Amino acid sequence: MHETYTLTEVRVDNYRTKTLIFDRQMLVQPGQFVMVWLPEIDEKPYSVAGGDPLALTVVAVGPFSEQLHRLQVGDRVWIRGPFGHGFRLPDSESSRRLLLVGGGYGVAPLHFLARKAIAAGHRVEICIGARTEQDILLSDEFVREGVAVRVATEDGSRGATGLITPVVDEAIHAETPDAVYGCGPNPMLSAVAVLSEAHGLPYQLSWEAHMRCGIGLCGACEVHELEAEGWLACLDGPVASSSIA
Ligand SMILES: Cc1cc2nc3c(=O)[nH]c(=O)nc-3n(C[C@H](O)[C@H](O)[C@H](O)COP(=O)(O)OP(=O)(O)OC[C@H]3O[C@@H](n4cnc5c(N)ncnc54)[C@H](O)[C@@H]3O)c2cc1C
Repeated sequence: MHETYTLTEVRVDNYRTKTLIFDRQMLVQPGQFVMVWLPEIDEKPYSVAGGDPLALTVVAVGPFSEQLHRLQVGDRVWIRGPFGHGFRLPDSESSRRLLLVGGGYGVAPLHFLARKAIAAGHRVEICIGARTEQDILLSDEFVREGVAVRVATEDGSRGATGLITPVVDEAIHAETPDAVYGCGPNPMLSAVAVLSEAHGLPYQLSWEAHMRCGIGLCGACEVHELEAEGWLACLDGPVASSSIA
């Protein structure tokens, strides 16, 4: 069932990304997602970027996301959820070192995860991959939280030049993490899975898939990169841990 949320703040994160902050909280874990409905337009999934208050980070790439960017403070949207399984932090009471790897809007749920991890006493580092310097999301916010940030851009405008994978490898060699967490395009996640396995590290990855119903009925969001056949991002994920990947 949809509930109505009123927009209270719009934060501009970069030239095509905004974070929409709503009037109340949702009990939700980093890595879970909600279905956002704009009547007579469409309904699409968005990862939660914060739960208290509910926040969604939206990259404007097409008709629906552009419509979300047009919303003003005071406007209402209809939201159902949260859905799916999110990221799990280590159970351990002692501080762990967590390595996060993000690309595109995937950096936003990882920022939510980092805040929870730090509050639980863990140490966090993030590797952010982006096309150009202008596409990098939330790097200053991570630094403010005390998170060490490594960056790679495809055009070399900031950080290492090229894909993020060699930077992740460097971070692992610099200090072995206790666990790896990833959110971003599926080819990036596949590379992170290979790298983590090569180093014998446990990992949790949030897989992207075309999603329609959001509740496991339509089967549109099967993730083919995983060995587990019929694994649905909406119901079984979107986060998969190394034990099933
Ligand atoms: C579980 C899940 C969580 C998601 N969480 C988020 C989120 O937190 N923030 C967010 O912005 N989107 C998120 N998405 C994507 C979102 O649901 C929409 O697909 C997206 O906003 C594009 O919709 P659109 O109608 O604006 O554009 P469309 O017409 O669907 O797409 C326009 C073009 O942009 C491409 N495209 C789609 N998404 C992206 C992207 N992020 N970057 C670059 N190109 C893209 C499409 O392949 C297409 O070519 C999520 C999707 C899933 C399945």
